[in-house]
Amino acid sequence: MDPYRLPRTVVPSRYDLKLEPDLTTLTFRGVETVAITVSEPVREIYFNAVEIVIDEAVVVDGRGREQRATVALDEAAERGRLEVAEPLAPGAGQMRLTFRGTLNDKLRGFYRSVYKDPSGVSRTMAATQFEATDARRAFPCWDEPAFKAVFAVTLVIDPALTAVSNTRIVSETREGGRKVVRFADSIIMSTYLVAFVVGELEATEPIAVGPTPVRVWCVPGKRRLAAFGHEIAVASLKFFEDYYGLPYPGDKLDFLAIPDFAAGAMENLGAITFRETALLVDETAASHAELQRVADVVAHENAHMWFGDLVTMTWWNGIWLNEAFATFMEMLAVDAWKPQWQRWVAFGVSRGAAMSVDGLHSTRPIEFPVTAPREADAMFDVLTYEKGASVLRMLEQYLGPDVFRTGVRQYLTTHRFANADTGDLWAALGRASGQPIPAVMDGWIFAPGYPLVSASIERGELVLRQQRFTYLREPLQWWGAKPAAPTPGRWQVPVQLRITAGGRDTVERVLLTEPEVRRPLPAGCDSVVVNEGGHGFYRVRYDAELLGRLVARLPALGAIERYNLVNDAWAVTLAGLMPLTDYLDLTARFREERDKNVWTILIGSLAMLNRLVAPEVRPGLEALVRDRVAPALSLLGWDSRSSEDELTRQLRGDLVRALGTLGNDRSVQAQAAERYGEHVHGKATVDPNVLPALIAVLASSGDPTRYTDFVDRFRAATTPQEEQRYLYALTAFPQPELIAQTLGRTINGEIRTQDAPFVVRSLLLTVQAREQAWDFVMKQWDTMDRLYPKHGLRRMAEGVTGLITPGLEASVHHFFKERHIEFGGKVLEQYLEQLRLAVAMREREGAALAAYVARSTSR
Ligand SMILES: [Zn+2]
Repeated sequence: MDPYRLPRTVVPSRYDLKLEPDLTTLTFRGVETVAITVSEPVREIYFNAVEIVIDEAVVVDGRGREQRATVALDEAAERGRLEVAEPLAPGAGQMRLTFRGTLNDKLRGFYRSVYKDPSGVSRTMAATQFEATDARRAFPCWDEPAFKAVFAVTLVIDPALTAVSNTRIVSETREGGRKVVRFADSIIMSTYLVAFVVGELEATEPIAVGPTPVRVWCVPGKRRLAAFGHEIAVASLKFFEDYYGLPYPGDKLDFLAIPDFAAGAMENLGAITFRETALLVDETAASHAELQRVADVVAHENAHMWFGDLVTMTWWNGIWLNEAFATFMEMLAVDAWKPQWQRWVAFGVSRGAAMSVDGLHSTRPIEFPVTAPREADAMFDVLTYEKGASVLRMLEQYLGPDVFRTGVRQYLTTHRFANADTGDLWAALGRASGQPIPAVMDGWIFAPGYPLVSASIERGELVLRQQRFTYLREPLQWWGAKPAAPTPGRWQVPVQLRITAGGRDTVERVLLTEPEVRRPLPAGCDSVVVNEGGHGFYRVRYDAELLGRLVARLPALGAIERYNLVNDAWAVTLAGLMPLTDYLDLTARFREERDKNVWTILIGSLAMLNRLVAPEVRPGLEALVRDRVAPALSLLGWDSRSSEDELTRQLRGDLVRALGTLGNDRSVQAQAAERYGEHVHGKATVDPNVLPALIAVLASSGDPTRYTDFVDRFRAATTPQEEQRYLYALTAFPQPELIAQTLGRTINGEIRTQDAPFVVRSLLLTVQAREQAWDFVMKQWDTMDRLYPKHGLRRMAEGVTGLITPGLEASVHHFFKERHIEFGGKVLEQYLEQLRLAVAMREREGAALAAYVARSTSR
């Protein structure tokens, strides 16, 4: 018998599920009647269940015969085996179970979330998080995405509380002093999309989108933070109904902010759950980055109502398509809602993050075979979300947006209320476009990595060559190394060129299928942009002549093209294909850059240099940072102008932060302190885009008094964003005793377990704190493993990529090897390879960097 897949001899079609959570004893009781279809006479029924006690089981078979059953639970296999004396007659029957369980504190299954109400009193609520395989912790079920069924939920609760589930409430009655809330039948859907939330909850007034009421829910006292999330919820729902050409599949749509939440959000049909920072925000006090995060996550989850919920992957290998597609649609929806945000330009940063991981030997294909469902845990990463969305965007641009949408509509219409695979989407897109989609796409989806396209001019011709891009020549040598699968060096690359000759631009599309192509260039060619528009998932390396011509005409490039120019140059520098000094020369050409995203990569590369530079060279590097960044801030000035757009305001914040921290700019630090002081004393208001930067600058140059003040402000914060700013600011204080205090707060319950791993990660990535933080992690690993959600621990460990010295690298290897620590998939290997390439850069370029900053600062 397959240890991971349930047999199909008995399958469910409907669950009548009654649950009675008790927030005082932190337990729940349940009764369920599952309508089943028995296809052959068996005496056993297999289903999933774990951490549940089943008290009673009765089965009715296809002839209406009722039998008591015995149930054995296999905790390791997370499976129940129900057995009856007489074989079940085939046909429609029922399985009735009575069971009980615990409201756990692991943020999965049916769990408890504890928070303080406005008067400081501790309160408890119950919520669910089932994806991928934790519905089985709340009720016995066929917990695989292909076993779709109708769910009819009833919650029996304390009358003072409120209950929300996937559908509308059809009745509320009293039964023995309890409130019985019965919900309407759901659509046919997968178990991982079922949700219930019980607690003291407040909702906004509903806004109707067609027949669908849309509301935002939160704990009491926070409803004033719901308006912005509500607005994008409504706007994106309208956008998706139009784009998909299908009505929203549920009967109502609720967005719920949960005080403890492991992931960002979860697309439960009709009852989408969020961590508070991803849904609740004060629009007048938030930065652009904070608002964009809310808009993105809300639109993303909403996109899933069709892609994921209405049409679902057959098995967990298909999770990438769910997530990649929702990420792609999130961009489209937010771009349509706020075109001034230039969402697709900002997506360049996300694409860049995916390319960073996908440039490792230890990357993986977007889609890979999944046997045990927990193997899919390793799929929730930048390759699934950001690379997946990038290649869909590349395909959309290649086919044309209208053709692409037609294919998507056909796919959804054909497979609604059912399951589908990647091949089904390609087939639909193929029919819509008349193109051989799998031939183009397979290399991007089923093979790891991506190409580096080298562009050069040879004898008047443009020559394009492709090869796989990797940072390191050879795979990492480490104790867990497995023989690497052979990787192709060739892709079908949809290349878009912009050739400028005699002042005229011509755009050309070439499908690069061979290792090398040549094409003649027009006479008087001024410049060539490869990857024009910036949608391609590949890097470009220009020869010196082409690069020189582009750099001479920077303002003629689009923002995303400038971003790619810097990002690709930095990547080939890390790979040892371009001298660091050439890269630093290139950054000098961007002193007057006005695009926030281009600055993100410029500042990001300087931050990495700060992590790998030798301590005695750091003051020189700080001077270099000031030299590059200060002119841009001078151009913008400290004060915002009413005529400015949001992106410019956000850029000001980013520049202030870079100068005050990486640049250690004393005048910026003084200015920051002054402005922050005026702000907190109500003498002046600081632009919400600059305030988070001031807090970060003050922390990195702060003292114990400031630290105590920031701890108080973290505790007293009135918005989730304010809480986060002060929380993460605590990681920037350089004093060892303050670092020790912050570390202590990550395991003593002061910082929520949804946040604590990210705080530790931040400390590991901070030069002044990293050694102390790493010591702490090694000592407290078992405690952290016990306290933090699994996903959190994995993300925390990513912080080791900041431990960029040979000694720390050795310590990291030693620790993980001795402790036999694994994160599933290739996660650990990726962290180790990222660390290796950074240490290699330090060893290769350290002397050149020292000489370069010495030259720059003596000038
Ligand atoms: Zn998603």
